[in-house]
Amino acid sequence: MSIISHYINGTIVNPTNARSQTVLNPATGAEVAQVALADQPLVDQAVAAANAAWPVWSETAPLRRARVMFKFKELLDQNQEKIAALITREHGKIFSDAMGEVTRGIEVVEFACGLPQLLKTQYSDNIGGGIDHWNIRQSLGVTVGITPFNFPFMVPMWMAPLAIACGNSFILKPSERDPSASLLIADLLQQAGLPDGVFNVVQGDKVAVDALLAHPDVAAISFVGSTPIAQYIHSEASRLGKRVQALGGAKNHLVVMPDANLDQAVDALMGAAYGSAGERCMAISVAVAVGEIADALVAKLKPRVRALKVGDGMTAQVEMGPVISAAHKAKIESMIASGVAQGAQLVVDGRGLQVTGHEQGFFIGGSLFDHVHEGMQIHREEIFGPVLCVVRVPDFSAALDLINRHEFGNGVSLFTADGNTAREFSRRVQVGMVGINVPIPVPMAWHSFGGWKRSLFGDMHAYGEEGIRFYTRYKSVMQRWPDSIVKGAEFTMPVAK
Ligand code: NAD
Repeated sequence: MSIISHYINGTIVNPTNARSQTVLNPATGAEVAQVALADQPLVDQAVAAANAAWPVWSETAPLRRARVMFKFKELLDQNQEKIAALITREHGKIFSDAMGEVTRGIEVVEFACGLPQLLKTQYSDNIGGGIDHWNIRQSLGVTVGITPFNFPFMVPMWMAPLAIACGNSFILKPSERDPSASLLIADLLQQAGLPDGVFNVVQGDKVAVDALLAHPDVAAISFVGSTPIAQYIHSEASRLGKRVQALGGAKNHLVVMPDANLDQAVDALMGAAYGSAGERCMAISVAVAVGEIADALVAKLKPRVRALKVGDGMTAQVEMGPVISAAHKAKIESMIASGVAQGAQLVVDGRGLQVTGHEQGFFIGGSLFDHVHEGMQIHREEIFGPVLCVVRVPDFSAALDLINRHEFGNGVSLFTADGNTAREFSRRVQVGMVGINVPIPVPMAWHSFGGWKRSLFGDMHAYGEEGIRFYTRYKSVMQRWPDSIVKGAEFTMPVAK
């Protein structure tokens, strides 16, 4: 069985210990490979390589760093299908969705190609006494990205291209459940001309994460994953004086107003709730039906959920693949049982689904709950599976309050035909990313991605201009040249003359 190992200083490094974990194809339940799990010495080796590569890379002109990104983008374009196939094999999502993930990742590389422009700052000519004043953005040093299983390509792309383009070196600690994309990224960056040591991959679990957190030469950590781990990463990294952004879990609502185009809202809910088997941080898991539209909404959803085509993500026409693991499938099933036990009405039950020829795969059909109430576990917690909960509310205010009281604030959507309702909603909702008649409002590469409340710990969003700010330190420079210097010491606070 092949071993998916680490990538340090431009080469694949053999595991330094015997610890490994099985990587499975969720559609078949079969072993794909073993992934090495790093320990402290291996992490030390990766940080040393990244630290050694950083000074030269950070002194490389931004334009030259951007050129590596241009080349990287070209190579990614050529390898889109290869990357997508790897994603489907280890994650399970359907191939067309994996291609979408690759596209959204490449868009951040395109953004990073504009680095020289993005690094420009303010300049003030002659603030007084012949002094000019400006700011520069400088790299941080060794930066780390710790990423989740559900976007094994796109989420690393939220981080690495900007970190590297800004002049940092970078260590990726991908999810141990679908680690192969990380090594393909490494290979393509090397082909694009990135110097060895600037991008490294450490495979592993909590042991590797903790070693990276504690390492004194790691300057900054970007994390994307579940909320408990995000909070842990944020508090540990902050305690140790590191810059940190930690994006967490979600419970995203889609409000259907009585004046909404119902067919559009139903189409939106089907894709946003069941696409990628609900394993997206921007998945819609709660439909908030306002007023009299609820019965018609549930009536239209029910046959569509029953008719979902579930199967191997590489099979054409399949709409939903398996979930990531047998344990995760069992967790989703137990959440469905909890919804029933707490009194929600299970309109479509996806449990017990068998996919012929894939009996060992981790499949579960789409489920639909009606009459879900606030406070039920299925409304409070992230299920991260193909389960849509319909909550009925009397009016717009009740919908808004329901969403604003929730502990998560990642994404939200509103379907309406009324401009003022849309405006009020987007201004008053306590959520970081808002869609109006758009089901999954994932911001474009130049707009930055981030939730509010317990969906993000830290103060900067991912990628876009926020990403540039995260991966650089702001420096203020004042400069005066000898000919303009007024002779004599000044003992009072300098002010503009
Ligand atoms: P996870 O939190 O289990 O794992 C994320 C990363 O943390 C992995 O690299 C993993 O190895 C590491 N990790 C896991 N347990 C750890 C521990 N105890 N100590 C230190 N490190 C640990 O998340 P997941 O299951 O891979 O991904 C799904 C979650 O990610 C969902 O909650 C989803 O909402 C969230 N997510 C959020 C966003 C966002 O942008 N907000 C995007 C994608 C996924």
